[in-house]
Amino acid sequence: MSRAADRIKVFRGDITALTVDAIVNAANNSLLGGGGVDGAIHRAAGPQLLAECRTLGGCKTGAAKITKGYHLKARHVIHTVGPVWKGGNSGEPELLASCYRESFKLAFEHEIQSMAFPAISCGVYGYPIEQACAIAVAETVTTLQVCPSMQQVYFVCFEEAVYQAYLDELAGVA
Ligand code: ADP
Repeated sequence: MSRAADRIKVFRGDITALTVDAIVNAANNSLLGGGGVDGAIHRAAGPQLLAECRTLGGCKTGAAKITKGYHLKARHVIHTVGPVWKGGNSGEPELLASCYRESFKLAFEHEIQSMAFPAISCGVYGYPIEQACAIAVAETVTTLQVCPSMQQVYFVCFEEAVYQAYLDELAGVA
């Protein structure tokens, strides 16, 4: 098994373009679509994704649910709901860590070997980017260290500041 850090890649661009077993959606509690990465994923997957999401009964903050990928290159979409940043004393770090843990849990249950995360909560939900990256990287490294079946995890960044934050955080791990 290669080292955890060797199985992590930072990618600058659009998550819907990736060919991986699953992409993760930074969704909202309704799971019925929204702006940002959620909107991009629904547009790329097509209306069948929304139809399946309607059957799921929403999703709690910090939890995750899985659907098919439909017109995406990814076979699955894992929908998770990150916390809205309210200053940091409302359980935000634990909820954000839970998004990563619950997403990985679903990934293992579905034999997913490669997956891509957006910067959950770092858009309209306002989570400070460096703090969010630290949680994303810590949870991913911890998981990869005990899970040889997960071959590749991508952190997909739309913005330069997010990209830099992930690179800095990973440099500290490697
Ligand atoms: P949240 O509501 O969890 O904050 P957003 O979708 O607003 O979710 O933003 C999460 C992150 O995803 C932000 O850094 C945003 O720039 C980024 N993002 C937006 N569109 C895409 C996309 N197509 N691919 C990857 N990342 C994206």
